[in-house]
Amino acid sequence: MDAVSTKDTTTEARLTASPDLTGVATSVGGTLLVRAPDTGEVVGEVPDLDAAGVAALVARARTAQPGWAGLGVDGRAEVIERFRRLLWRRRGEVLHSMQAESGKLYEDALRDLAMLLDVAHYWTRVAGPLLADEPLRTRGLMGFGRRSVRTFEPHGVFGMIGPWNLPVVLSIGDALPALMAGNTVVCKPSEVTPLATLLAADLFVAAGGPPDVLLVATGGGRTGEALVDQVDAVHFTGSVATGRAVAARAGQRLIPCSLELGGKDPAIVLADADLKRAARGVVSYGLLVGGQACIAVERVYVQRDVHERFVELVVEQVRSLRLGPAGGPGVVDVAGMIHPPQVDIVEAHVRDAVERGARVLTGGRRGSVEASYEPTVLTDVDHTMRCMREETFGPVIPIMAVRDVDEAVRLANDSEYGLAASVWTGDPARGRAIARRLQVGTVTVNDAVMHAALPELPMGGWKASGLGGRGGPDAMRWACRQRVVQVLRLAGHPDLYWLPYRPRSTRNLERLFGLLYGR
Ligand code: NAP
Repeated sequence: MDAVSTKDTTTEARLTASPDLTGVATSVGGTLLVRAPDTGEVVGEVPDLDAAGVAALVARARTAQPGWAGLGVDGRAEVIERFRRLLWRRRGEVLHSMQAESGKLYEDALRDLAMLLDVAHYWTRVAGPLLADEPLRTRGLMGFGRRSVRTFEPHGVFGMIGPWNLPVVLSIGDALPALMAGNTVVCKPSEVTPLATLLAADLFVAAGGPPDVLLVATGGGRTGEALVDQVDAVHFTGSVATGRAVAARAGQRLIPCSLELGGKDPAIVLADADLKRAARGVVSYGLLVGGQACIAVERVYVQRDVHERFVELVVEQVRSLRLGPAGGPGVVDVAGMIHPPQVDIVEAHVRDAVERGARVLTGGRRGSVEASYEPTVLTDVDHTMRCMREETFGPVIPIMAVRDVDEAVRLANDSEYGLAASVWTGDPARGRAIARRLQVGTVTVNDAVMHAALPELPMGGWKASGLGGRGGPDAMRWACRQRVVQVLRLAGHPDLYWLPYRPRSTRNLERLFGLLYGR
């Protein structure tokens, strides 16, 4: 894909040098060079926007907003439906762009695209009823004779800041409810993976989307800061540390800010589980996108009676997987890291675990593919180890034996994170009961991860895993400002509460309050 050509349509070519960039993207004379993580080859270049560049983009989005809102829900839905169909027709380019900048598997890119299409379809279908004025019933005496309605209005310009692991879903995908609500949007993808987001924004225009409604601000962390300084609301997906910085900045401006942050998702495997299926599920979801997914299984607690057998099954599965550079459909199971410096974190977690007494049953070293780590299974792990407490975000499955359900629940909750969890059991009712004891935003029984691909479901973290969230009807409410309009139906009569006060009317009012509220 010709990333430079996208500058003219979606980004402002205002460039500044950025001395503090790390990782695969490098800034040369104010232009970010985007590199394939597995080969180091430059696969695109994009502007590294400074604060003035971001302000100019947001100003354009602000000018475009009333026209976009003026299209009405049906007009906006029509544009987004055309965009959805074009994304599918041009999927070859879109998948190529996703893979080139991230080195992710064909299957991972395909799933990202499918999620984006489904999200688009969902919001175009449900936005109308969700944005319609909502009559509100009131019960109290003070609401007597008054009719109240809640209306939903766009914030104006929405900022979407996204991470490098699922760049298109977590920038353009999260932009869709905001767009359907009548906001214009400026996305800030990670400097590591900006190309597919730029391509998608170009396709929005090619599908008939009005100019400046969906824009992309490319650059690093400073570009993200500048975006928070300019927009009317911000949705952020990324690490806890950056999330805190974004929330503090948004707090200074008192703009709405929702945060989807990191996770350390536990899987609890009970003795009555179908162990073969549970092992396969834990491996698939522990190694999803090479473990670089916020909701990947990051730690496993297995009842002691079945621990040995379960570990054997997991190791057998992991050993059968093919690690290699990503290619076409079905050729490889695990690829390298999207952001090469992440390999150092994975390596440090495994080293720390081994130094504290963990055993490596398979993997445990860098892979032969550039910027990769071999899929790894650890046992004899405990909560003194980084791999059980900090987000590893790599292909590591640490498995810990537990006495019983109580111990599994206690350890699962012993975390600063609270994104999602899974319970594997032969008894779904028991799984549901355990789910209610887990301090996380989503629990799946005999499954994991796929809930996040369903736009109907709200997704949000507890504890340090976030505030607010995405998905489900709540996301549309979040994309709007709300206004209550109350109209007095009995205009012309003095109100019970109006001045001046008289002893008799006050006593009557008191009696009425007693009858209504005091019994
Ligand atoms: P990150 O380092 O926090 O970066 C996220 C985004 O914020 C990037 O676009 C980054 O730009 C930008 N940024 C950096 N500093 C900023 C600042 N001061 N102000 C505003 N924006 C700033 O996260 P990441 O390493 O890209 O992504 C991995 C993390 O995302 C993991 O913790 C993962 O769990 C989390 N995640 C969460 C979810 C969820 O739904 N809960 C989903 C996916 C990922 P640059 O990259 O250009 O520096």
